[in-house]
Amino acid sequence: MIVPLDRVPDEAFAQRLAGDGIAIDPLSDRVLAPCDARVLQVHRANHAVTLAARGLEIIIHVGLDTVMLKGEGFTPLVKAGDEVRTGDPLLAFDADLVARRARSLLTEIVVANVERVAAIEPAAGPVTAARDVLMRIRLVDAPAAETASAPPREESIASAPIIVKCSAGLHARPAATLAAAARRFTADVRLVKNGHEANARSVVSTMALEVAAGDAVTVVARGDDASDAVATLAELLATDLDAGYAPAPQPSPPSAARPETLARPTTEGVLQGVPASPGIAIGNAFQLRDDDLVPEERAADPNRERRALDAAIAAACRQLDALRERLEREGRAGEGAIFAAHRELLEDPALVDAADAGIRAGASAAHAWRQAYCAQVDRLRSLDNPLLAARGADLRDVGRRVLHLLVGGDGAPREVPPDSIVIAEELAPSDIASLDRARVVGVCTTMGSATSHAAILARGLGIPAVAGMDPRALALPTGTRVVLDGDAGLLDTAPDAARMARIAERQAADARRRASELAAAASPAITRDGHRVEVVANIGDVDGAHRVPEVGGEGVGLLRSEFLFLHRHAAPDEDEQTRSYEAVARALGPERILVIRTLDVGGDKALPYLAVADEANPFLGERGVRLTLNHPALFRAQIRAILRASVSGRVAMMFPMIATLAEWRAAREMVERERAELGVPAVPVGIMVETAAAALMAERFAREADFFSIGTNDLTQYTLAMDRSNPRLAPQLDALHPAVLRLIERTVDGAHAHGRWVGVCGAAAGDIAAVPVLVGLGVDELSADVPLVPAVKARVRTLSLEACRATAREALDASDGAAVREIVRRRHG
Ligand code: PEP
Ligand code: MG
Repeated sequence: MIVPLDRVPDEAFAQRLAGDGIAIDPLSDRVLAPCDARVLQVHRANHAVTLAARGLEIIIHVGLDTVMLKGEGFTPLVKAGDEVRTGDPLLAFDADLVARRARSLLTEIVVANVERVAAIEPAAGPVTAARDVLMRIRLVDAPAAETASAPPREESIASAPIIVKCSAGLHARPAATLAAAARRFTADVRLVKNGHEANARSVVSTMALEVAAGDAVTVVARGDDASDAVATLAELLATDLDAGYAPAPQPSPPSAARPETLARPTTEGVLQGVPASPGIAIGNAFQLRDDDLVPEERAADPNRERRALDAAIAAACRQLDALRERLEREGRAGEGAIFAAHRELLEDPALVDAADAGIRAGASAAHAWRQAYCAQVDRLRSLDNPLLAARGADLRDVGRRVLHLLVGGDGAPREVPPDSIVIAEELAPSDIASLDRARVVGVCTTMGSATSHAAILARGLGIPAVAGMDPRALALPTGTRVVLDGDAGLLDTAPDAARMARIAERQAADARRRASELAAAASPAITRDGHRVEVVANIGDVDGAHRVPEVGGEGVGLLRSEFLFLHRHAAPDEDEQTRSYEAVARALGPERILVIRTLDVGGDKALPYLAVADEANPFLGERGVRLTLNHPALFRAQIRAILRASVSGRVAMMFPMIATLAEWRAAREMVERERAELGVPAVPVGIMVETAAAALMAERFAREADFFSIGTNDLTQYTLAMDRSNPRLAPQLDALHPAVLRLIERTVDGAHAHGRWVGVCGAAAGDIAAVPVLVGLGVDELSADVPLVPAVKARVRTLSLEACRATAREALDASDGAAVREIVRRRHG
């Protein structure tokens, strides 16, 4: 399979520093000559061969970081000076060993002397070695290299001898870095070792010099900018040009507990992510995709099943594209390429045809699909070739993805063993909903951030969670004993006994604190100087509502109504919604407020039955109230259901993502019309403040809206222009940034000017450090995830309003979120 060079996760190749060409994701363990050529060099680590053909210097480089294997696993089949014909074997490698011990098996084939090339047209998709064309190369008319390499006449400048630092010597990557630096100068630059000379602009020439770590090399240059060139290259040679690249993994100790696939552990097996839900958990890794779903076998309508299969495959392709694009944006093109390969597998007609045959024979889409991909997986695995077996694993993964889409949302609980730390790429709300909560002690996802919906759900359940985790976590075998630190965002894959003991101590202290907070939870949250703050809860379903009174919640500040809409094939009708809202209202009783947010999808949450045109920026697109206003029948049914349920409790309604008065008025008008039609009493109707527009216009909105609820998750994302689902931005995505605080201040002032109340329902409301600042800014209500309610109440009781106001004043003037957190630490501990 051809992989474009810019998807190779190594900048020397991706940025074409080593030359231009292609990469190959190989299916065989032999490298064949791609053309008739003369062998210029076989690298002493045997992982790379350089060929000369028609004036071109072609580097064939097997895998990434394979130089570190120092020849292990490679068998050269040619030597320098040999003439080879297309298809002749150049070298063989132990694919299993190299795949386990190196960063990647991607094999680069690049033309190093690009000055001879006018254009390169790479092929795409699957290719067969020595049969298919890999790339078409058009040469420049006159070989410019002749003059470039002609011995220069000016006087030369030479450096002192430099001891080369690179631990693996000047192999392809450092040679490429040197060549790129040398090409910035007009001077002719040479590297000299033991009287042998290499043109520093040429990767091949530098590699042929066979410079090892510790060798002495002199840089000699001639030309106008010779002294600058010498200084630059000398400096580069004296640094470790491989620094910043992870060293090759050491062989795994022969222990069953240490996974072979976790080939490159970071410091002592600790993997890094982003804190998403507080607390620390000790448990056994459970890979969520490890379970095999057993779908219904038969189905009555083959046409319907075929349509369902097509839709699931299309949805899986979209997921894979999104995953790849995201990884590429994050500079992880290599991992992204894996998903591109998964997508190709999905397009394999043999697979789809086999599933189709099953469907025509009366099988359900899910069953037929499962039979089809499992048969292929078994076939691949039975072949005595580790690379094809690895393809089998890929096919299994992608097959499951489609299967999950076909049977997802059936609500069947997953069989999770006790004490599980669930590890997954991403958890959809339905995934968490279908887990046996009593058995899950931690959640770890490789995607997302603290404000992604999986994190919100984990906080709602009081389960420690880490998002944006190093993807190597996905390679941990189910059952590995691990520690998940939701405060520091770490997964310790090999905790030692001393650490386990410290954790057990910390868990015990946390449990004692939580018990005392819970014991006091029923009392109101009143500051030391007598100011009362309402502390309510965020919930996402009826279950959550039952837990609110137990934790001292004074109501619900945010019911995310999406729970009724996600993971199904059609929207719930008005009656079904009414019954659900009534159930929530009744669980809370007549005293506790229930603020129901109307449907908030779009952005990162899609509904299969609500078509949204493809959007370049979904978070800035048809989202929240914009989407529901564009689907009036759906919106009306929800509004009517909320109004009908309002007689069962103390119900209020609010709209997400309001940016303009026009949106607010259109939504409000619909409520009025339906209320008059139903003949029920008025309910408070408010807006969520999640956009800078709503915050800045708060006073204007306050003339009309009954209340405000600040969604700090989105308000922070939009104010700082940082995607809340991007784990790389998570450390800066802080709701305590003064820019966000200023918008909160403005919202509170606008609302209070008209006697309206303001709540905060974003994650900041449950952040103990944020509580004094929000109270000081005048927020009336804090709506936190259910398990955090007792801690928020306890925190309020330790504060005085006056001190909080002073804290808020100082915070508004701080430079960033970290500075605000420092102020809070100093003033309130
Ligand atoms: C918010 O944006 O802060 C919020 C509460 O809404 P959600 O997290 O559901 O987008
Ligand atoms: Mg929001």
